Amino acid sequence: MRRIQPTRPQMEILVWISIFLLLFCLSWQFHWHEGLDGFIEQHHGYPLDHALLALNISGFLGLIYSALRIRDLSREVNRRLQAEKNVDWIACHDTLTELPNRRFLDSICAQAMIDQRAQETYAVFSIDLDGFKKVNDLLGHDHGDAVLKTVAQRLSALFPREHVFRLGGDEFVVLARRTGNPDLAALGNRIVSVIGKPFTFNGVAIDLGASVGFALYPENGDDLGQVIRHSDCAMSVAKKQGRDRVKPFVPSMQDDLAKRVRMEGDLRAAIRKAEIVPHYQPLVDLKANKIIGFEALARWKTASGEFIPPSEFIPVAEDAGLIVELTDQLLRRACTDALSWPREIVLSFNLSPIQLSDRLLGLRILKILGDVGLPPHRVELEVTESAIIQDAITARIVLDDLVNAGVRIALDDFGTGYSSLSQLSNYRFDKIKIDRSFVASFETNDKQDKVIKAIIALGAGLGVTITAEGIEEESQRQRLQELGCDIGQGYLLGRPAPIEEIATGHVNTRILQRG
Ligand code: C2E
Ligand code: MG
Ligand code: MG
Repeated sequence: MRRIQPTRPQMEILVWISIFLLLFCLSWQFHWHEGLDGFIEQHHGYPLDHALLALNISGFLGLIYSALRIRDLSREVNRRLQAEKNVDWIACHDTLTELPNRRFLDSICAQAMIDQRAQETYAVFSIDLDGFKKVNDLLGHDHGDAVLKTVAQRLSALFPREHVFRLGGDEFVVLARRTGNPDLAALGNRIVSVIGKPFTFNGVAIDLGASVGFALYPENGDDLGQVIRHSDCAMSVAKKQGRDRVKPFVPSMQDDLAKRVRMEGDLRAAIRKAEIVPHYQPLVDLKANKIIGFEALARWKTASGEFIPPSEFIPVAEDAGLIVELTDQLLRRACTDALSWPREIVLSFNLSPIQLSDRLLGLRILKILGDVGLPPHRVELEVTESAIIQDAITARIVLDDLVNAGVRIALDDFGTGYSSLSQLSNYRFDKIKIDRSFVASFETNDKQDKVIKAIIALGAGLGVTITAEGIEEESQRQRLQELGCDIGQGYLLGRPAPIEEIATGHVNTRILQRG
């Protein structure tokens, strides 16, 4: 049981009562009252007994007054102590979820550095919600707050005896003491599954995911702060690989992250200096053997003359929030270039998946077309299936805006996703581009040949144009022609080339000669 310690004002009252009792005992012991009686007798001419009575009464009243003052003082002190405690709590906690915050975590890290003798071992889990931004954007901040509170409750219930922190936004950290040899990957998967349970607020069902990274103290760092940074690094890697991933920290992740941070800086500078430009690869009508359009493919040539492929820098641009600026710049440039081509030549332009969850995308694209003066019917936008799956409702709104204005939509890399066919029944595409992985092996692989035949038949049935990507051999071109494929694209028909080569007719001539 806790011993109750007297407060300072109570102590003061005790001191006063003790003094009073001491004086009383002394007067009793040494018969001071007799001396006082004698003194009053000797001076009976003066009304000393009245004066003493008045003194007694005022002393007693003074005692009561002091007690009341001490009580008030005690209340005030308690109020201030409580207020100080509240300020401390607010400084170290997140007021929305009531979980401890980054400051609290920092103080634990600092304490762990001082207290190295404690020999505690920890597993640190860094957690970031997948799809949380969409909740805030589409359903509003009330729903976002409700989601965060529920996530906090679920994590606290999963780790009842450990510290769960909210570091800000949709980032959480769990600091779990390790005893024995727990299966941390399994624990990470449990975090993913508790967060993955559906949330329902005001009748709206919300589906979220979580990316989890974990690191061990002291194995993955000399101090706890460093281990937390490492688990955060593992979480970033998990996030980049998609939804609901759990990743343990491995030292090479730091190099990857540093490389990515460097690339992000370089990319920012390259966009500012407009160093990333579109190159154009011909789209050829396989029946008439003539160019009907060009696909714009982003090319980044660094100052050292090295080409960085779009598969490397487009994901970095998406992560760093640079994709809107980059796309606007590239599209404006491509549309301007397309103005110099014959009127029937179409410009095909790739959109990255993340962009289709931006409701203003359609308006921005149409504004660029309007500014440059390129008619919408000369533009075709290539989207991938994953782009449509990520946020089907917004993607549909954005695509409808564009289609209504006359822009055509192509389904790129067809056959590489897991729901390609369902995408075809959900949306009306103008074109399907068969992924080059099918074309690469279809001559030697009978099944691939049948798949391509079926896709071409499907296109004919749906009234959708079929393009085959990655044609590198003459025999591939001939076979696709025989199968009735409409359009072809690939190194055989023309590699991506800068606008200067397109403008001089270099590419065009090469293809016509082949025919
Ligand atoms: P994609 O849209 O499927 O583009 C076709 C890719 O196949 C291009 O790669 C092209 O150079 C390559 N290719 C074309 N013919 C052949 C061939 O015969 N053989 C082989 N092996 N490859 C061929 P690239 O330029 O590296 O682009 C890769 C991906 O990056 C593109 O795939 C597209 O998804 C994306 N991308 C390119 N430019 C942009 C852009 O401006 N914006 C966005 N969001 N994505 C872009
Ligand atoms: Mg494409
Ligand atoms: Mg493709």
